[in-house]
Amino acid sequence: MIYFLFHIFTETKRNIKTMDTELCEHLKQLKPKKSGIDYCEECVKTNDKWVHLRVCQDCGATLCCDSSKNKHASKHFEETGHSVVVSNLPKPWSQFAWCYEHKVKKSLR
Ligand SMILES: [Zn+2]
Ligand SMILES: [Zn+2]
Ligand SMILES: [Zn+2]
Repeated sequence: MIYFLFHIFTETKRNIKTMDTELCEHLKQLKPKKSGIDYCEECVKTNDKWVHLRVCQDCGATLCCDSSKNKHASKHFEETGHSVVVSNLPKPWSQFAWCYEHKVKKSLR
């Protein structure tokens, strides 16, 4: 029980930190762009499956997340340097932006 409370406390502390002072310039200036596409543009070419989708904020590509087998959004960053993605989740309250370059997450609630 004590461990559990401590865990929640540290989690909360970390979230507040990344939400505010440690945002990178990319995320501070971000105006999130959505995608009307509900599939990974790379996975469909090879008939693969994905878990969640990310939308590249530089070129609008819709690609799969790191929980997916192919990690196309991460590969896209490595190949193009496009570092900011926004989640494309069905629930609006769970949306977030992620910067690959600076490894910073911002909630978009
Ligand atoms: Zn950044
Ligand atoms: Zn994919
Ligand atoms: Zn891109």
